[in-house]
Amino acid sequence: MRILAVGAAGFIGSHYVRKLLTGGFPSMPDVHVTVFDKLTYAGNPENLAPVRTLPGLEFVRGDICDTGLLTEVMSGHDAVVNFAAETHVDRSINGSVDFVRTNVQGTHSLLEAARATRVPRVVHVSTDEVYGSIDEGSWTEESPLLPNSPYAASKAGGDLLVRAFARTHGLDVSITRCSNNYGPYQYPEKVIPLFVTSLLEGGTVPLYGDGLNVRDWLHVDDHCRGIQLVLEQGRPGEVYNIGGGEELTNFQLTRMLLDACGAGPERIRKVADRPGHDRRYSLDDGKLRGLGYAPQVPFRQGLADTVEWYRAHPDWWRPLRGAHAAAG
Ligand code: NAD
Repeated sequence: MRILAVGAAGFIGSHYVRKLLTGGFPSMPDVHVTVFDKLTYAGNPENLAPVRTLPGLEFVRGDICDTGLLTEVMSGHDAVVNFAAETHVDRSINGSVDFVRTNVQGTHSLLEAARATRVPRVVHVSTDEVYGSIDEGSWTEESPLLPNSPYAASKAGGDLLVRAFARTHGLDVSITRCSNNYGPYQYPEKVIPLFVTSLLEGGTVPLYGDGLNVRDWLHVDDHCRGIQLVLEQGRPGEVYNIGGGEELTNFQLTRMLLDACGAGPERIRKVADRPGHDRRYSLDDGKLRGLGYAPQVPFRQGLADTVEWYRAHPDWWRPLRGAHAAAG
C-alpha cells in the first residue's frame, strides 16, 4: 500500500504518518508513505524525526499548487490524504492571500493531479470551522457552510471543489471535518501549545474577550483514527464530521492549563476579542460513529500528557517560539 500524505510535516499530518509507520493502524501493516510538503513556517522536518530512518518513508519538498510536480509524485500511489493548508485564523485576519492560494488553489491542484493519475482514493482533511458558529445544538454534514474567518472561508472553498470533482468527474474523494485538535508537535501559535509554552517560560497567557467562546477539543490521535476510517470505509463524495471530544469555554480550558503548569489566575492577560470570533463549535459525528468511530483519549488524560510532552521537549518548541515572536 502506497500512501501520499500531502502537508504531513505539520501537526496532524506528521502524527498520522508516525502512527501509520509504527503499526498504529493494524488494517494497514505494510505501508509506504510519501510526504509531500512545502515546509512553510508550520512544516517541520523534526516532526517526522521519530520515523525518519524507517524504510517506508520518503520525503519530497514541494508546493501543492505545483500541479506538475504533484502529479509526478502522486503517480503510483494507492491513496492520498491531504493535510496541506494555511491553518492559523489570526494569520488569516492579518492577510489571507496565502490562505486562498494554498487552501483553494492548492486543493484544486491536488484534485487535478488525482484525476490525471487516476489515484484510487483521496481523503481531504477539512475543519468544522466551515460551518461558522452555532449557539445551540450541533452541526451535521448537511448543515450549511457559513464560514466567518478568511481561514474558514478558504477551507470551505476547497471543500466545494472537492464536492464538485466527486460529482462531475467521479473522483473517489471524501472530506473530513474535525473539531479543534490538541496534542504533541502542535505549532506554538495555537492556543494550547501557546499557553503551555508561555506558562513554562514564566509568562502570561492572552485570553480573548470574555473567555466564553466554546470549542470542542479532540486529541490528534483520535482525529487520525477518524481519518483512517474514512480512508478505508468512507463513501466517495461524502463528508464525515469527526468530533465527540470535550466542549469547554476558553476560560475553562485556560484554568485547566494553569493548573497543569502550576500557575495561578494572575497569569491570565485579557485581550480584545478576535474580529469575527465564532462563539461556539459543536459537531454531530453520528455518521462516522456509524462506521465504528469513537474517540479513545479521555480529555483530561490527553491534556495532562500533552502538557508533559511540551515540558519534556523545549528543544522542539523553543526555536519555534523565537521564530513566532520575531514574525510578530
Ligand atoms: P499545520 O499548520 O500544523 O500544518 C500544515 C502543513 O501544510 C505544514 O506542514 C505546511 O508546511 C504544509 N503546507 C502549507 N502550505 C503548503 C503548500 N502550499 N504546499 C505544500 N504544503 C503546504 O496544520 P494542522 O493543524 O496539521 O492541520 C492539518 C489540516 O487539518 C488542515 O487542513 C487543517 O485545516 C485541518 N484541521 C486542523 C485542526 C486543528 O485543530 N489543528 C482541526 C480541524 C481540521
